[in-house]
Amino acid sequence: MSAPLPKHLVACHHCDLLQHEIELPKRAVASCVRCGAELYRNRHNSLDLSLALSIAAAQVFLLANTFPLVSMEVQGEIQSTTLPQAVVALYKHHSVPLAVLVFVTTMLAPAIEIASIVYLLTSLRIGVGRGHFALVFRFVQSIRRWGMIDVLMLGVLVSLVKLAALAEVVPGIALWAYCVLLVLMVAMAASFNTHDVWRWSAERSE
Ligand SMILES: [Zn+2]
Repeated sequence: MSAPLPKHLVACHHCDLLQHEIELPKRAVASCVRCGAELYRNRHNSLDLSLALSIAAAQVFLLANTFPLVSMEVQGEIQSTTLPQAVVALYKHHSVPLAVLVFVTTMLAPAIEIASIVYLLTSLRIGVGRGHFALVFRFVQSIRRWGMIDVLMLGVLVSLVKLAALAEVVPGIALWAYCVLLVLMVAMAASFNTHDVWRWSAERSE
């Protein structure tokens, strides 16, 4: 992992000056020689840390969706349901726009982000799928630009407030799993950046 990298060129995001990339000591920051803007930093992160965080997020995401989150009245009976079941019940009985909002923000968006990052980092780790690495990487970058964490946070908040009017929120495993998921997704986003991913890719193909 610590083998010296071949000299890469790095462009300053602010003034476009091309400079040779050098290996940095831990936690050091490289600045542009012309304008002084930050070029990159050695954040001392490893591929394994990011991979572990993304796999943990995937497991917690499954927990959040398989344990009861709300109890609602279905055909005259009070039932504890998971969030996916609540979405189906909302779709059938109450409100289609709310069902779509809850589904997209709390399930679809985080599922796509977590799955694509797990796939990208796993394929880097085990060294397969190099052919479409750049394609998956571009996909991950484009969905990250959408700010999935903000979407998830807003989605969970709006969903809980809206659902609270129709159903009782169960303070159980699923609710805690959503709280942990938010923390894990912030940590996952912090441990994953463009520079690190290309560095790991270069290290693995040496
Ligand atoms: Zn510059």
